Order: sequence, then structure tokens, then C-alpha cells
Amino acid sequence: MTWHATILTLYPEMFPGPLGHSLSGEALAQGTWALEARQIREHGLGRHRAVDDTPAGGGAGMVLRCDVLAAAIDAAASADDPRPRLLMSPRGRPLTQARVRALSAGPGLVVVCGRFEGVDERVIAGRGLEEVSIGDYVLSGGEIAAFTLLDACVRLLPGVMGKAASGVEESFEGGRLEYPHYTRPRDWEGRTIPDVLTGGNHGAIARWRAAESLRLTRERRPDLLDPAKP
Ligand code: SAH
Repeated sequence: MTWHATILTLYPEMFPGPLGHSLSGEALAQGTWALEARQIREHGLGRHRAVDDTPAGGGAGMVLRCDVLAAAIDAAASADDPRPRLLMSPRGRPLTQARVRALSAGPGLVVVCGRFEGVDERVIAGRGLEEVSIGDYVLSGGEIAAFTLLDACVRLLPGVMGKAASGVEESFEGGRLEYPHYTRPRDWEGRTIPDVLTGGNHGAIARWRAAESLRLTRERRPDLLDPAKP
């Protein structure tokens, strides 16, 4: 069955954008997944199709209205639509490869892209939106975050990656960062490929890679090795 992504955005023309190229673009053309970007403004109010308003309590910026966003969500996904509804948000739970794997194994996604200062809090509970962050920094809108989320999910769909195995040995799978890669030439500017990789001893290669994986993870991301992490 086709994995179906529906994006709610004020900039539907941004899509498929980068997702229309390379692996995700080929998979889109082949129908492995489907992408529908819907304009929130179609549900805007009045002659100017207003979607935002000033924040209650004052302060800078504008807030996406809950009634407008709810109407856009309701038009895009019926109440019995089984797809998870996500809101891209710096306040959300940080995205992980484990979560990506679970989402890509499901029926697809409904993704709301915020803009301005964010969205009226009430629509998050009112429409069961799960807030998802792509990292501890602030983007100007949810679209680039949605590209990131979708790219990570789509590459795991069956048949999208050339070699099925390349999905399981990567960084984060198994809680480790990936080992270093090398290819020809053997000697480049005086830097050579580690002998073990060209020696043909597959057991030794596997041990070297596992050790490098562990060394890099310890150095760069000790949090991944800490079982107490959330
Ligand atoms: N005022 C908000 C930031 C709004 S940024 C705050 O301080 O939390 C505008 C929109 O960009 C957000 O509604 C969200 O959809 C998106 N966005 C920004 N940073 C993001 C991140 N790290 N992950 C996911 N979405 C993000």
C-alpha cells in the first residue's frame, strides 16, 4: 500500500522540492509513496483569507488560528484516518531514528507546518497533534523540518534504498555512530586506507568497524551509550 503524506502548509509550492529528487523522487514517481501539500489559507477567514492573529496576552509576532488550522486538518484527514498527525515544533519530542522507523512502517503521515510564532495551543489537543522537533534550534517555518522528517521516513520504505542492508548498519541503528568509510584511491595526498580494510579478512574488518563505531560514539555521542538516557 502506498505510504501517504499529507502536508498542511502556507507554502504548498515548496513541495515536493528536494523530495522530488534522488531516491525519494524516484520512489514518488514510482508510487511507493504519495505526497499531497495542502494550502492552509484555503480555510482562511474573510476576503483576505486570514490565517493568523495577534497573540493573546500581547507580545511580538502572530499566531496561527486554531479554527483555521482545525478546518484545514478536518478537510485533509477524516476522523477515522489512521495516520499519525504531527505538528513540526521546536517544543516537540526530538525526532530519533527509532521514531522514524516506526513512522515509516505505518500508513503515512499528516504533517502540520507552523509559521510565525507558532500555532494556537488549543488546536494541538483539539486535533490530537503530536509535536515533533528536528533539533534544538529554531527554524522560520515547519516546512524544512517536514522535508527532514519525510526524507528520513521515505528512504526506509521497502524498495527505496538500493541495497536493503544499507538501512540497518547505519548511524543510530543499534545505538552507535557508523564507522568510517573509504574508497579508491588507496593513497590520497599521503593519506592511506587502513590496511585491515584492504586485507580481505572479513572477520578482522567486522571487528575493526565495530571498534571504530564504539570509539566514535564514545568520543562524539556518549549519550547514545548511556542506558539512563530518556
Ligand atoms: N516561537 C516558537 C518558534 C516558532 S518557529 C518557539 O519559540 O518555540 C515557526 C515554526 O517553525 C514552528 O511553528 C514550527 O512549525 C517550525 N519549527 C521551528 N523550529 C523547529 C524545529 N526545531 N523542529 C521542528 N519544527 C520547527
